[in-house]
Amino acid sequence: MRRTVYINGSFVPEDEAKVSVFDRGFLFADGVYEVTAVLDGRLVDFDSHVDRLNRSLTGLGMTMDLNYAALLDLHRRLVSRNGLREGVVYLQVTRGEADRDFHYPVGVAQTLVMFTQEKHFSTETVKGLSVISVPDLRWQRRDIKTVQLLAASMAKMAAKEAGKDDAWLVEDGHVTEGTSSNAYIVTNDGTIVTRNLSTSILPGTTRAAVLRLATEQQLKIDERPFTLQEAQQAAEAFITSATAFVTPVVEIDGMAVADGRPGQIVGRLREIYIEESRKTAV
Ligand code: PLP
Repeated sequence: MRRTVYINGSFVPEDEAKVSVFDRGFLFADGVYEVTAVLDGRLVDFDSHVDRLNRSLTGLGMTMDLNYAALLDLHRRLVSRNGLREGVVYLQVTRGEADRDFHYPVGVAQTLVMFTQEKHFSTETVKGLSVISVPDLRWQRRDIKTVQLLAASMAKMAAKEAGKDDAWLVEDGHVTEGTSSNAYIVTNDGTIVTRNLSTSILPGTTRAAVLRLATEQQLKIDERPFTLQEAQQAAEAFITSATAFVTPVVEIDGMAVADGRPGQIVGRLREIYIEESRKTAV
């Protein structure tokens, strides 16, 4: 099926949507993006996505022309036009089209594109992931969700070539995050450990929701960096993201996490998160 995509004010068939070769997103990776999950045709954690989009834009000295209500309306219209029940909405804003120059152009209209991708979260079997560790080669403002994803792409390829599902990124002996997810372990006393927010990681929308739900469940949380060795010796390990929700990690660099099967806490968090998301989606 030919999808309908949104580009700069219009909904058009996907093969008619075109962006200039002079677009700064293409030439400089000068743009940011969001990926919002859709469950039952509604948007999950939408407020968090809009907040982060605005923070990312601010980080690059841009502001969004559209407010919350306009963005919600566009997301809903795109979902409806594509008859999407389950999947994601991808949104990308770039600084726009200008003659190639490192300095930011003045008075240029931003490029805004949005498209949907179908994904069957609720019927997918959740298998535990095997991950490898790779050095974190990304830049130092990982809190900004820019479209410069080559280091993440290289890490995912390294995992694929090693026959594994994904990679965890390591810096100074500590795990920063997954290639496109936040990373967690559960210690033997049941404490959920995940790296504290800083410019070293992306503040995940799912992370925020899951930590809130874990707190409501009276689970202990420790936001701090953890080492790979700690992760390999943990009781459980998992990742969160808008596309993976809460997904167990069962093997790290060839070593099984605990008995090599998805843990109980991660299973519970996944269920609670999906249940809550269905209730609160807009
Ligand atoms: N960290 C990185 C590097 C990511 O790319 C992502 C999502 O794409 C996340 C964390 C998780 O963020 P969210 O839960 O908002 O999807």
